[in-house]
Amino acid sequence: VNRSDIHYFGAGPAPLPTTVLENAAHVLLNYKDKGLGLCEISHRSPEANEILDNTKKALITLLDIPDDYEVLFLQSGGTGGFSSTVYNLVSIWVEKKRAQIAAEVGDDDDAKVLERLRKVVDDELKLDYLVTGSWSLKASQEATRLVGAKHVNVAVDARKLNNGKFGHIPAEHEWSLTPRTSGGGPAFVYFCDNETVGGVEFPAFPHSLEGDDAPLVCADMSSNFISRKVDVRKYAVIFGGAQKNIGNTGIAIVILRKSLLPPTSKTASPDLLRALNLPVGPIVFDYATVAKNNSLYNTLPIFDVWVAGQVMEALVDKYGARRIAGQEEVSNEKARLIYEALDKYSHLYRVVPDKVVRSRMNICFRVHGGDPEKEKAFLAGAEKRGLLGLKGHRDVGGIRASNYNAVSLEGAKLLVSYLEEYAKSA
Ligand code: PLP
Repeated sequence: VNRSDIHYFGAGPAPLPTTVLENAAHVLLNYKDKGLGLCEISHRSPEANEILDNTKKALITLLDIPDDYEVLFLQSGGTGGFSSTVYNLVSIWVEKKRAQIAAEVGDDDDAKVLERLRKVVDDELKLDYLVTGSWSLKASQEATRLVGAKHVNVAVDARKLNNGKFGHIPAEHEWSLTPRTSGGGPAFVYFCDNETVGGVEFPAFPHSLEGDDAPLVCADMSSNFISRKVDVRKYAVIFGGAQKNIGNTGIAIVILRKSLLPPTSKTASPDLLRALNLPVGPIVFDYATVAKNNSLYNTLPIFDVWVAGQVMEALVDKYGARRIAGQEEVSNEKARLIYEALDKYSHLYRVVPDKVVRSRMNICFRVHGGDPEKEKAFLAGAEKRGLLGLKGHRDVGGIRASNYNAVSLEGAKLLVSYLEEYAKSA
């Protein structure tokens, strides 16, 4: 089977541009005529540093990341992003509270500081989660595993108002965020910008997380990274695995507000966290350590960083001054065409999520009301046309067309033709 005859709509790992893969084959054997491949050179070599700098630069250009933000590369995957958010931001929150208490009671009275701090942690430590799909659910479960249920506030569980199913984002006035008080409020608010399994995407940044006293906002953008403009300043932390829109599996990218790093913010000492029964995170997840070492505290898979760099530099070259707005237009157009076809034949197809929160990246729908045999036949017909990876997630079934950046407009149009053809013949 020829690669050029296939259009792959899998949810990730996702396709990569063919030219990037062709060049990758070459650099794996011989990078820049050195007689050594990219996986064989030191992550501390000048070549590796250059790759790291170029990849960072391309991301900064695409998303217009301001100077007061840091870009980190980790091997954590998206899932490690859930844990790192908790380890780092809880530790920063604790240290801030400790410093405030110490200023009040005096630095030399450690026992009194600890006693007061214990009570503050007990009463006030809250991590707010907006649960709108299975990935934010998993993130909230990880937070509960790490710090305990009493510190995790599920400010919204989208299933509660939707017959126990995801596919809907409740109105903001229905969210029960931890109240913002002077010096108080949640340690952070967390959401997943695009839910890959259920096909739910936040249409815009939530209003209730804005304002002068806005909380620290953390977002998982694993499945819609670099697919639309992002006002980075509204976030404390943005993270995502690279393997959907950016590159291949192996790295996660973190965009972090620099004020969360030393000297502005410090993390609590491991002894203090232990005394408070709070988790001490692995050093490789420690933002301050990773940032201080330019993401090279431990061995970074430079080949994966190179792939991500190639993908993003190609977008920078293609869209020039329009940056990510150019890609956003294409992503929106592909999604529009597919949803238009699904809506046109709504007697046959049913889009799962609510119209206003439909994901541009993961288009989830049922065929014939979800009849398993008929959906199987639909998938078989698609495969015959080279339209692969359309089977829905194992937990929810149905059909899912993932519309990541490497899916071409031509591929999306072929899917639309198949949707029309199938509907006419059904
Ligand atoms: N977050 C989202 C939105 C995802 O779609 C995924 C994986 O598909 C993850 C997190 C988990 O990523 P990883 O498998 O890299 O840990």
